[in-house]
Amino acid sequence: MLEVIDLIKDYRGFRAVSGISFQVRPGEIVGLLGPNGAGKTTAMRCIAGILRPSSGTILINDHDLLHDQANAKRGLAFVPEVPSLYELLTVEEHLKFIAMCFNSMDEFDRIGDDLLKRYDLYEKRNQFVATLSKGMKQKLAVACALIHRANVLLLDEPLIGIDPRGAHEFKKELSRARDDGSAILISTHLLDTAERFCDRVIILARGHIVAEGTIAELRERANMEGATLEAIFLRLTEEPDVIVQQS
Ligand code: ATP
Repeated sequence: MLEVIDLIKDYRGFRAVSGISFQVRPGEIVGLLGPNGAGKTTAMRCIAGILRPSSGTILINDHDLLHDQANAKRGLAFVPEVPSLYELLTVEEHLKFIAMCFNSMDEFDRIGDDLLKRYDLYEKRNQFVATLSKGMKQKLAVACALIHRANVLLLDEPLIGIDPRGAHEFKKELSRARDDGSAILISTHLLDTAERFCDRVIILARGHIVAEGTIAELRERANMEGATLEAIFLRLTEEPDVIVQQS
C-alpha cells in the first residue's frame, strides 16, 4: 500500500509538486498522467526516496519513508525513466545481484531464468549489461524490479523503448503482480494504454492533481459521457482550475 500525503517539492523557489495526496491500494494499477513538466517524475523520485520532499509524508506499507527508510524501501521497487544499471555485470549477474541485495535468492532460483526468457534476455545472460540495447536495458530494469518481491512498484515511463512484444509481456507481468496484491503506480504519456490497462488514473498539471478516479468516474464528473481518456486529459489539463477528484 502506498500513501502520499500533502507532498510538496520545491526546487529553489519553484514549486514542482504542490501538496498532492493520493493512495495506491494493494491489487490496483494507478496511472500517473500529466503534460510535460507536470511534476510526475519529481513526485515519483520523492516516493522512491531519491529526492527529499520539501514537506509531506510518504507511507510505504505503513512505514514512513523519511523516518523508517530501510523498512519502507524493503517493499518498494522503482524503475526510473532511464535505468541506471551496473554495466560491467553480465545480465544474469545483475539480476542475481539485485536478488541478493534484497535477500530474495530463492526468488532468483525460482523465476530468474523464466524472467530472462520472457524478456528475451536469456540468450544475452552472459553478456555485459553495457552491450545491451536501450530497450533491453529497460527490460532488465523491469526484471530487476520483479525479482525482489516488492509489493509497491513505481514505474516511470516504463514502456518507452520497449518493443510491442516486450510491452505485452510487461503488461502481463504487471497484471500478475496486481493480482498477487501489489500496489502499482505507473507514469505514462500513453493514454490509450492507461485507459485500457490502469484501474484508476491521477492527472497532474502544474504540480496539482486536477483529476483522479476510474475513467468512468472522470467521464461522469467532467460531464463528458463516452469521451476517451485523451479527450478528458486534454480538457482537464487545459483548465487547471477544474478539480475532479474521487470522492
Ligand atoms: P515529463 O513528462 O516531461 O517527463 P514531468 O511531469 O515528469 O515531465 P518533472 O520532471 O517532474 O515533470 O518536472 C516538473 C517541473 O520541475 C518542471 O517545470 C521542471 O522544469 C522542474 N524541475 C525538474 N527537475 C528540476 C531541477 N532539478 N531543478 C529545477 N527545476 C526542476
